[in-house]
Amino acid sequence: NTTPNDLRAFWMPFTANRQFKKEPRLFVGAKDMYYTTHDGRQVLDGTAGLWCVNAGHCRPKITEAIREQAGELDYAPAFQLGHPKAFELANRLVDIAPDGMSHVFYTNSGSESVDTALKIALAYQRVKGEGTRFRLIGRERGYHGINFGGMSVGGIVGNRKMFGTLLTGVDHLPHTHQPAKNAFTKGQPEHGVELADELERIVALHDASTIAAVIVEPVAGSTGVLIPPKGYLQRLREICTKHGILLIFDEVITGFGRLGAPFAAQYFDVKPDIITTAKGLTNGVIPMGAVFVTSEIHDAFMTGPEHLIEFAHGYTYSGNPIASAAGLGTLDTYKEEGLLTRASELAPYWEEQLHSLRDCPNVIDIRNIGLIGAIELQPIAGEPTKRAFNAFLQAYNDGLLIRTTGDIIALSPPLIITRDQIDELFAKLRKVLMNNI
Ligand code: PMP
Repeated sequence: NTTPNDLRAFWMPFTANRQFKKEPRLFVGAKDMYYTTHDGRQVLDGTAGLWCVNAGHCRPKITEAIREQAGELDYAPAFQLGHPKAFELANRLVDIAPDGMSHVFYTNSGSESVDTALKIALAYQRVKGEGTRFRLIGRERGYHGINFGGMSVGGIVGNRKMFGTLLTGVDHLPHTHQPAKNAFTKGQPEHGVELADELERIVALHDASTIAAVIVEPVAGSTGVLIPPKGYLQRLREICTKHGILLIFDEVITGFGRLGAPFAAQYFDVKPDIITTAKGLTNGVIPMGAVFVTSEIHDAFMTGPEHLIEFAHGYTYSGNPIASAAGLGTLDTYKEEGLLTRASELAPYWEEQLHSLRDCPNVIDIRNIGLIGAIELQPIAGEPTKRAFNAFLQAYNDGLLIRTTGDIIALSPPLIITRDQIDELFAKLRKVLMNNI
């Protein structure tokens, strides 16, 4: 029995956790699609943890890989030294990455991947002799983690406002969610090109010669599942190429099969210059991220004049042996079970079941792509986020884990989900939504 006193010292800074300590909800076990709660109940994982447990929970290959590695080589410095599994994992990551992505930098989280990518972009422009390109462009309602670079390019004002100017020279594209055009849209909404042309406006404002990179999530996840309209990402690519601006895709959520291809870059057939990843890289089991770069970026650093390639970067835990082993076990599992493309097989059924909730009370929009879904709820007047939070609590009590962001319910189950489990998920959710939340 867990009492509030048992929970006193761990500071959980997310605002949404305030109520948690009064009414603890603890997971004590997990297997495949289900969590076990501290009071012995099974909870269907509708969110793959926090968008990360793509292969499902406690998968044998991953668990074994970690166990074995922990007993064999626990740590190796990533400075002037190394160990084989970090190299093996990098080769295998590059094998499944979009064409042209030739190298990875390891990090320990999505936030670190983002800050690393921004540093690479700025340093690359410098190496290329484009020393005036210091500006970075993010997007409103973008989420790129909670470190300083990610907060700066991120588009969540509430996360930024206490920290003053953060990185200077940052501008933001408009977000891609246009409710009037996007209501109950299946797949991608229309009108992407005009929206992406906003980048031309920003370029004109600052002059292309001052802009280093644009960073976007191919599908914005944490801020409510904002699906890019058709042609949007392609158009961003064209504009970036035209002006010598690097395009960074933050694939911390979309990477590793969430949309039905290994990466969103492949799904949308758009080639960014840099891709950030984390989460699904190790199935969420051990903290690890990776930043993918094109051979052009890699070669600029490795072959440029000595005085320009002082790009000191790396973490104590970069390519940590146990994380690398977990990454290899994860890639083995994805490969053996075809998980990196499984979302494309399930997507039509997923879409149909998700959109069947359209007639539930207070549902004002439904969106989906790959194995991601969002149900936007009418906020309770004067109490924003309360309705979705009520849904979260009821779903949890009924044996279903959902994620809420504002008054939006986000769904992203492990990619091993069966059709029967999709039915179970939506039957549970329907019950919650019909229940006057
Ligand atoms: N980028 C994106 C797109 C994310 O969704 C997240 C996490 N939800 C991050 C970065 C930050 O990742 P982390 O929490 O591992 O730092």
